[in-house]
Amino acid sequence: MPKLILTAVLTIACLCSYPAHLEVRPIHAREMQKPDAPFAQKVPRYRIRMDDYRIVSPEGSHKKIALLTIDDGPSGESSRQLLEVLERHQAKAIWFVNGSQLASKNQDGTITFKPKKAALLRDIKQRGHLIGNHTWQHANLRKQPAERQREEIISTNRAIRQLTGETPRYFRPPFGAYTDVSNNICREEGMVSLNWSVGSSDWDARVYKKPRGIARQVLGSIHPGATILFHDRMWTARELDDILTGLEHAGYQFVLPTEGSQPATISGQARGSK
Ligand SMILES: [Zn+2]
Repeated sequence: MPKLILTAVLTIACLCSYPAHLEVRPIHAREMQKPDAPFAQKVPRYRIRMDDYRIVSPEGSHKKIALLTIDDGPSGESSRQLLEVLERHQAKAIWFVNGSQLASKNQDGTITFKPKKAALLRDIKQRGHLIGNHTWQHANLRKQPAERQREEIISTNRAIRQLTGETPRYFRPPFGAYTDVSNNICREEGMVSLNWSVGSSDWDARVYKKPRGIARQVLGSIHPGATILFHDRMWTARELDDILTGLEHAGYQFVLPTEGSQPATISGQARGSK
């Protein structure tokens, strides 16, 4: 309703001040499909800075925003719990998944999907999260010949594409170990190779076995524009609510990059209403 009023006011204002010589701007087909197009311009644009893997807004790198990333899934029960916590905080993440979690490879090279995992991946996507490529077997690419590296990445993209209809925009090499080969494949496939700037240490038993171990690690090393690395694990799911609440209290919003055709997603509107 306020949009209607605003449209009416703008129309009147435009008609009153309409100079005769003003060219009428053609409406592009894309805009016609989106009734909210004039309002979409107000959505902030977030991009990833490749030299330090920070997410930055047009206002600059001082802004308290963070990009959540979850690797090694979709695992199953822990994925469900992570999704629930993310939903509670209206936060979206990039899920860097392994092909071997989604399907098994047959000897002839074809793949057979695991039905529950396939449904889970589709669900993650439908909830507005982004799906990224984390190789098929979680191989350390620096220890693999070029052909195996290619197979690891391309077959995972193929599986994700079959399930979601989209090629991932983001790739994360296992252990952060990218190579010239993986960088080239990313370029060919239109993907960005993305490591992280804050490690949650949720892969380290000395951290995740301590009470609030992961939360202390993240809250102690957070910085504006952080790309935070988490894993699809039960102990991470148990601490995630605590972590996101702590970050919100510190003034952080959780955002997704808006490069390419990806929509902007901002959390934080829910703050205070929780
Ligand atoms: Zn991993």
